[in-house]
Amino acid sequence: MLRFSAVGVSDVGLVRATNQDSAVATSGLLVVADGVGGAAAGEVASARAASAVLETAQRTRGPLPVVVLRQAVESAQKAVALAITEDPARAGMATTLTAVLTNGTDAALAHLGDSRAYVWRDDELIQLTRDHTWTARAVDRGTISEDQVQAHPWRNVILRSVNGDEGTNADVLPLALRVGDRLLIASDGLTDLVGAAWLERLFAEHDDEALAQALLAAALGEGGRDNITLIVATVVPESAPEPPFLQVFGAVAGAAMSQSRA
Ligand code: CA
Repeated sequence: MLRFSAVGVSDVGLVRATNQDSAVATSGLLVVADGVGGAAAGEVASARAASAVLETAQRTRGPLPVVVLRQAVESAQKAVALAITEDPARAGMATTLTAVLTNGTDAALAHLGDSRAYVWRDDELIQLTRDHTWTARAVDRGTISEDQVQAHPWRNVILRSVNGDEGTNADVLPLALRVGDRLLIASDGLTDLVGAAWLERLFAEHDDEALAQALLAAALGEGGRDNITLIVATVVPESAPEPPFLQVFGAVAGAAMSQSRA
């Protein structure tokens, strides 16, 4: 049996006025959502989507993680659609969603948008997600090269997201995790500024707690032009001496606080 130990951080960065990212970490679930939309709608999109995934995972015990995550994506789409119905000024808001879930035996990954998941195994960093962006598709089709992505004007154009449209097609895949694997789930505020080779070096140098801080410092050092959200987790045996936990970061943490004040 396995579960996660996790360290997370969500930072507004050095340029943006608000943090529209959300993240959730529990001993079985890791979620990052990066919201977009004016008039605070991006915060609402990422917070509602992350909450919907958490609620679905907590409520749905029994089915394989891949089945639970499919339901979780559906429920995130419904939550965003409902939030737009509540306030039509939110129309057009959307969020990325990258989530890893384990039930202790099996694990799965769900992904929409340009947040990313990586696994560090045998001293090597492997990207588990494919960006759902215009530029990633253009690279696949050979119309632009990998080197042209960073400077491309359509770099931030996302082709798939949680936008309230139930037809949106998420990648939901089983994930073969083993004890000792280290995971990174992050918004593009990190991965746009800190490349794979740099990520790999920081993984080699730091344990999870120090790594989370080093990753944030690296993105801020590169200008922090976007919100920076990341979860670093290690797959540990179920018997590891750490109680279950629930950590929330970014917009979803603010939403939880304003609900409890209301
Ligand atoms: Ca972002």
